[in-house]
Amino acid sequence: HQQALMAFKDLPCQTIDGRAIILRANVGNLNEISHLMEVGAQGIGLFRTEFLLMNAKAMPDEDQQYKLYCDAIHTLNGQPLTIRTFDVGADKEIPCLKQNNEDNPALGVRGIRYSLLHQNMFITQVKAILRAANTGSVRLMFPMISKLEELQQAFALIEQAKTQLIEQQQKFAEVEYGIVVETPAAALTLDAMLPYLHFVSIGSNDLTQYTLAADRSNTQLAHSYPTLSPAVLKLVAMIIAQCKQAGVKVCLCGEIGGDETVLPLLMGMGLDELSINPNHLLAVKSQVVKGQYSQFVEHAAHINQLNTISAIDEAIKQFSLVNN
Ligand code: PEP
Ligand code: MG
Repeated sequence: HQQALMAFKDLPCQTIDGRAIILRANVGNLNEISHLMEVGAQGIGLFRTEFLLMNAKAMPDEDQQYKLYCDAIHTLNGQPLTIRTFDVGADKEIPCLKQNNEDNPALGVRGIRYSLLHQNMFITQVKAILRAANTGSVRLMFPMISKLEELQQAFALIEQAKTQLIEQQQKFAEVEYGIVVETPAAALTLDAMLPYLHFVSIGSNDLTQYTLAADRSNTQLAHSYPTLSPAVLKLVAMIIAQCKQAGVKVCLCGEIGGDETVLPLLMGMGLDELSINPNHLLAVKSQVVKGQYSQFVEHAAHINQLNTISAIDEAIKQFSLVNN
């Protein structure tokens, strides 16, 4: 099957009627990067940097991080590297970091909240990223943003990082900035955040968890496609509409993007980019190349009318059956 899919690798990633979408890869460690190029990923859309910490005995310092990011950039042959700052907390345990026990870790000090409380860690990471950006194309994004203040504080720390780099006479380059929209609060206040941003990436895993108040790691709750619920899809549609209006690129980086049967819906909703598990990239691309964008848009409009997860699920299966 994978062999047959290789035929899609070098084709332009666009539908029969000419609508293009960028397919990038989600990456959790450096070993995966060479594989990305084999499947024709257009760079990395989500580099989960906390994976660098999970087995580390000590926090990597600025130079160690700089080298890691440079290695990743180098392997990508000019395609962009989208670095998400450390998303620690919640279910991600990091032995080398101080983390308090929390009653509700998913609602606790995670993602950008942790970074804003541990500013030296954040500034060190940002400095390493800005220096690495001098060697290639880098995009930087923040996880778990839920209010504008967090974004403003993050940018204030980025200014501090730049000042330090200038004082230390280090070369660095500007990057594009984005956020992972993964809380309903971010989706609902996105209009105020967009003026600060070059791109937005929808984190549908957490957006589902926080919208449906359903623990993403609870196997009793994680049935079929909770992301494909009317509630989450309404938020996704809202996010896309606001980004389009503001002229900000919009990507989706949750697991749902790797399900090829869902591609017609996601594309039909107007996403510009997907960042997906590289093992699924060619299967997803095959659906792009074989598809008609006009049909995807109709399909998305139809799903928009449905009120239950099971009806949405059924419509997606049906579309996939008829078109494959
Ligand atoms: C998400 O929440 O959808 C996401 C892509 O990030 P993670 O799965 O690492 O939380
Ligand atoms: Mg997330």
